[in-house]
Amino acid sequence: MLEQLLQVQDHDSAIGRLRHRRRTLPELAELATLETQGAALEKSLADAGERREDVARRQRRLEDELALVEQKLAEVQAKLYGGTVSLIRELQALQTEVEALKRRRSTLEDGALEAMTEREPIDDEVSAMEARRADLDGRAGALRGVLAEAQITIDIELETELEARAAAVEGLPAEVVTSYERLRTRLDGVGAARLVNGRCDGCHLSMSVAELSVITRAAPDALLHCEQCGRIIAPSSA
Ligand SMILES: [Zn+2]
Repeated sequence: MLEQLLQVQDHDSAIGRLRHRRRTLPELAELATLETQGAALEKSLADAGERREDVARRQRRLEDELALVEQKLAEVQAKLYGGTVSLIRELQALQTEVEALKRRRSTLEDGALEAMTEREPIDDEVSAMEARRADLDGRAGALRGVLAEAQITIDIELETELEARAAAVEGLPAEVVTSYERLRTRLDGVGAARLVNGRCDGCHLSMSVAELSVITRAAPDALLHCEQCGRIIAPSSA
């Protein structure tokens, strides 16, 4: 019975190791790092996109006004050179308006050009970030593939161990299993330990002579506990 319980313990330890390995696969940490980088990148991209939109809006506004000024200028010039106005005073007023419109046009053109120049580095910045995002997405995708494969491999091993564990536990008295499970929960996953060279394999402490003599004299399937850690102790099978 004790030997059977130790087999259950071996399977439980293996299951514990597999679950731990599944939780701590290096790909998980790498993926988390990539996701953090990706989130930061998205934020920078959104920020750059906003800046670019601001500049673009300003550029559009200037260009719209520029179109109106051009139109107005064409009208005034048509009037000025159309021959319908002959009074010197009126002609002079039109001339002054043409000059004012040309100055306004020049200012707007400068502004629009400036906005365009301002946009270029932001466009470059956005392109670089988009390329970086594509790279991150590609790496994350590949990593997810590797991770899924590693998880499947572990899951297959887990399945095998769980089946073996279920087979091993069959026939053990329910109260022994309950006691073992309670100890396992409390004692870091190990509820039953071997006695190896006078030491408990669970806590690795040596047993007292008195305790050893109790164990030696006990019935073959007596449920004994380690004095130090409380685990079910199984003398090494002869
Ligand atoms: Zn112990």
